[in-house]
Amino acid sequence: DHEENVARLAPRSSELDEHTPNIARMYDYFLGGSTNFAADRAAAEQLLRAFPGNTEWAHINRAFLGRAVRACAEAGIEQFLDLGSGIPTRGNVHEIAQQVNPAARVAYVDIEPIAVSHARHLLAGNRHVTMTQADVREPETVLAAPGVSGLLDFTRPVAVLAAAVLDIIDTPDPATLVTAYRDACPGGSALVLSHSAALDASTGEVEGAQRVFESTTTPTLRTRERSEVLAMFDGYELLEPGLVPSARWRPVEPVSEEYAVRSNGYGAVGVLR
Ligand code: SAM
Repeated sequence: DHEENVARLAPRSSELDEHTPNIARMYDYFLGGSTNFAADRAAAEQLLRAFPGNTEWAHINRAFLGRAVRACAEAGIEQFLDLGSGIPTRGNVHEIAQQVNPAARVAYVDIEPIAVSHARHLLAGNRHVTMTQADVREPETVLAAPGVSGLLDFTRPVAVLAAAVLDIIDTPDPATLVTAYRDACPGGSALVLSHSAALDASTGEVEGAQRVFESTTTPTLRTRERSEVLAMFDGYELLEPGLVPSARWRPVEPVSEEYAVRSNGYGAVGVLR
């Protein structure tokens, strides 16, 4: 049965708490995946009611990430460090990067056991891709992890991906974190970042969403102003079209204003000079 299948993917049952909603599994539900439990689905539905347009937000964010990864790969970047990579689903970073360049290497990092075991299961036998269980708030640990330091060559450009993760981690200043990863990368490296912002949501809607997050394993949701997100690109030169609602970052088709605000946040790609 479905729940048993999901449980089988967890490494140690003591690590798997299926009764506390979890953003990795809620996000999977939003994207139409099946790696989620009843508590995740209930919280996800609550979030939908608190923050209308949220189903699309997840799709929009995921599609932004895909276009950004493709752009990096097409620009010749062969290595990717995906922070808070999530549960594997459609359009995974290594699939997109390896479509452009079969030799592309991807180091995934996530804190959630189900994301980790699911990815390891899927990636078994793929020498160019690793999955590391770690907390992105500990850059030194992440960078020294065998799955990262053993796979990526930090004397050559690396694209650091932080999509929809810096807004849910409890840390006083995520920009400092970004800097720690930036300082490990040589010139020509990239930063792909997306972050929630109250594009057209009311304060009440954001607070409603925050209340739902309080019931999850990552109880913090911080929307930020555009200027705060822009500051995270310190040292990077933004590629066109700059920091925009994620749906507006090099869309495949023209995007209406109504659709753009459903991004619920900004996205951009920067290159380290
Ligand atoms: N980056 C993917 C994307 O944009 O499609 C997934 C985004 S999902 C909303 C956020 C992910 O960040 C979840 O998989 C969650 O487990 C992970 N996460 C949350 N806090 C984390 C932390 N402190 N360290 C590592 N991963 C974390």
